[in-house]
Amino acid sequence: MAIRNIRVMGDDILRKTSKPVKKITERTKIMIDDMFETMYETQGVGLAAPQIGVLKRIVVIDVGEGPYVFINPVITEKSGEQTGEEGCLSIPNKVAEVTRPNHVVCEALNEEMKPFTVEAEGLFARAICHECDHLDGILYPDVANGPLMDLAEEEEEQEQEEQE
Ligand code: ZN
Repeated sequence: MAIRNIRVMGDDILRKTSKPVKKITERTKIMIDDMFETMYETQGVGLAAPQIGVLKRIVVIDVGEGPYVFINPVITEKSGEQTGEEGCLSIPNKVAEVTRPNHVVCEALNEEMKPFTVEAEGLFARAICHECDHLDGILYPDVANGPLMDLAEEEEEQEQEEQE
């Protein structure tokens, strides 16, 4: 396993549409392992293949409900609404408020190319929407309710408020 370089906003590859996976090769399996390692190392809850420079429809997610690999994911149902701060490993130290469905159903293939369906709520649903957007070249500032905010500055402001 290896840590891969994460592409950051401004890199053209993040704006491209990823291609469906037709078969799983040994190389793809290694890439998926690397995606998990890279995600855990950087304390992310999700990572999409284009973020490591590979235009394949593969995402990994772990929001604390176990590791999931989604190959060729399709969101088939969306309902409800949640609004909260969202970040991205490709946009370091920034956050913005994004409204997403609170509940999604996602159909995908697993590492054995077997179809499965996941029903997700809350953060898991948010992560699925965010990562699937990456596969179509969409980054969260495109769908955010407001501007990007600096994570560090926001924490400083909170500290000042606490002192007062
Ligand atoms: Zn992201």
